[in-house]
Amino acid sequence: MTAAAHGALPDPGSTARTRIRRMPERTVNDRTVLHAVLDAGRVAHVAVVDEDGQPYVVPVAYARRGDEVVFHGSTGSRLFRGLAAGQRTCLTVTLMDGLVAARSAFESGMNYRGVMVLGVVRRLDGDDELDALRVISDHLLPGRWSDCRPPTPKERAATMTLALPLDECSVKVRTGGAEDDPADLVDPVYSRIWAGEVPLVESLGEPVTDEHCPAGTAVPDYVRGWAAS
Ligand SMILES: Cc1cc2nc3c(=O)[nH]c(=O)nc-3n(C[C@H](O)[C@H](O)[C@H](O)COP(=O)(O)OP(=O)(O)OC[C@H]3O[C@@H](n4cnc5c(N)ncnc54)[C@H](O)[C@@H]3O)c2cc1C
Repeated sequence: MTAAAHGALPDPGSTARTRIRRMPERTVNDRTVLHAVLDAGRVAHVAVVDEDGQPYVVPVAYARRGDEVVFHGSTGSRLFRGLAAGQRTCLTVTLMDGLVAARSAFESGMNYRGVMVLGVVRRLDGDDELDALRVISDHLLPGRWSDCRPPTPKERAATMTLALPLDECSVKVRTGGAEDDPADLVDPVYSRIWAGEVPLVESLGEPVTDEHCPAGTAVPDYVRGWAAS
């Protein structure tokens, strides 16, 4: 989808900072793909720098809400407080799709879909924050929000919810098999080495019922459905 279709938002990879220079053929400029990668992921890594200049990369659960990524942390976290105070950040989401074994170690690698977002977060409050918390819950545990106890005022006070706009971002995707050095493909020894891709698929297992559930408590259908999502 083009920037025009998304209002004034620049296409992924279209700014000086997000133009992919290394392996530019892996650039994806399509916002629909950007959204699809974010919707398929569950964990983002968010960069923050503390008062001493030490960078940290913090893994967080997240969800996409329209053209922003929302995530939450503790109001006591100095790292999250730094972000909320207006520090610039970089958020990445990586999906691994396969291991690629080439004839050489140098050309071996991975298939992946990666998103990188640059910007400044906005701290959410009130109903907007509650909506973001619902969106995060619905993304990670579909159907659970309406089936579990809502957050209390005390829990809300302990939670900081942030939104990072998808204004300046990039999408990099590698697909396919080995891209060998042509010399290895005709080498009498190296050309006989097996090469190929082993797909990597993340999956959920069978639900394990908590010991405090009264006997006979059934696993909800929506929980059973998670394995298929
Ligand atoms: C699972 C996985 C494993 C990888 N393993 C390696 C490895 O072992 N060694 C290695 O060198 N590289 C690896 N990469 C690629 C790596 O993420 C970088 O793309 C690469 O190192 C080039 O970095 P750069 O800063 O020189 O890129 P540049 O092309 O100079 O970066 C310019 C801009 O491109 C965008 N960009 C760069 N990388 C990505 C990305 N991955 N996803 C989305 N946008 C991006 C950003 O907006 C960035 O600001 C891996 C990627 C993934 C997803």
